[in-house]
Amino acid sequence: MIDVILKKGKEKAVMQRHPWLFSGAVERVKGKPANGDVVRLVDAQGKFLAYGFYNSQSRVALRLLEWNEDVQINDDWFRKKIGVAVNGRANILADGNTNTCRLIFSEADYLPGLIVDKYADYLSLQILTSGIENNKAVIIDELQKLLKPKGIFDKSDAGSREHEGLETTSGVLAGSPPPELVEVKENGLTYGINIAEGQKSGFYCDQRDNRRIVAEHTAGKKVLDCFSYTGGFTLNSLRFGAANVTSVDSSALAIDTLKKNIELNKLDAAKHSAIQSDVNKQLRKFKEEGEKFDVIVLDPPKYAPSRSALDRASRAYKDLNRIAMLLLNSGGLLATYSCSGAMDIDTFKQVLAWAALDAGKEVQFIYQFCQPEDHPVRASFPEGEYLKGLLCRVI
Ligand code: SAH
Repeated sequence: MIDVILKKGKEKAVMQRHPWLFSGAVERVKGKPANGDVVRLVDAQGKFLAYGFYNSQSRVALRLLEWNEDVQINDDWFRKKIGVAVNGRANILADGNTNTCRLIFSEADYLPGLIVDKYADYLSLQILTSGIENNKAVIIDELQKLLKPKGIFDKSDAGSREHEGLETTSGVLAGSPPPELVEVKENGLTYGINIAEGQKSGFYCDQRDNRRIVAEHTAGKKVLDCFSYTGGFTLNSLRFGAANVTSVDSSALAIDTLKKNIELNKLDAAKHSAIQSDVNKQLRKFKEEGEKFDVIVLDPPKYAPSRSALDRASRAYKDLNRIAMLLLNSGGLLATYSCSGAMDIDTFKQVLAWAALDAGKEVQFIYQFCQPEDHPVRASFPEGEYLKGLLCRVI
């Protein structure tokens, strides 16, 4: 196995078991490992530090996997890691009301670059690193053994593959292709998921708990679900007895699927309206029209893809939240989220405080949302924490 020598003074993060080693921390590579090969990371004296996947093209030169020299990174290692991750989701699936969740969450499940989502009897895979790509066969085999899915679909079309020198891929990896809409259950509600064409791996299962928590505040209320996608917050609110729900999303496919989901769940379509539009434009339109709501959900896409984009993103979050606050009846609730890893909860609170000041409103934070248990945050990898939200009472 090829040795990669760490620069002096760069030991701290490695010893703290952070799974990323940036190329700038590499002193020298003894030989020519191929992208995705497992290498030994050693210090200047040649002392073993960790094993990791190597990639010469990526800013993250090594994805560290093991800090115990006696453990071999072989098929059995992958099978064990997959088994632990899958077993860890049993609680979510136990009551039979939910059959969709994230089974494997990359670094947080000790498999850097592997994301596996379960959609009822189908699995959707995203492979984002060459190390995982090289071990695809054993990963698929173990998933088949453990879960016996009807089909496994590759959704490795994320831009981040480019950084590893990988082509984007998509298609059936095993079993049969998923139907156009796979029906899944989450908190007892049914969703049609378009695995092949849908966003991300098909569904945003990271909002499972938050959809339910928000919905519990919507009985008899007039609700606005912004960035609704296929209706996660909308369906839960209708089920909890919202007086009516308006959903806004810019994607025609999302709105179309949302309408199908309302039918699938036999919810009252008369209490629902869907608007295909840019949220920022639509909120301004509501303001001009004097429209008001009791509960507003804001679940925008990632505004800050990196730390350097944080300032700009903060302004966008502030503006979005300010206008939503203006559309609430006094005492109304704003459930607002940020899925930007670069935006931590304290910064998000600050942004909301600015938004409140500008809107001339008083805001109380009455609940803090986070990502659910199938999106764990590994203690040595705080970067894995990305989803946060606040339930605000706006006066
Ligand atoms: N709340 C959803 C997930 C939202 S994902 C759920 O519970 O499943 C973000 C959504 O924002 C996507 O559906 C995307 O189509 C939509 N979107 C992105 N930019 C938008 C914009 N400017 N206006 C309206 N929708 C937008």
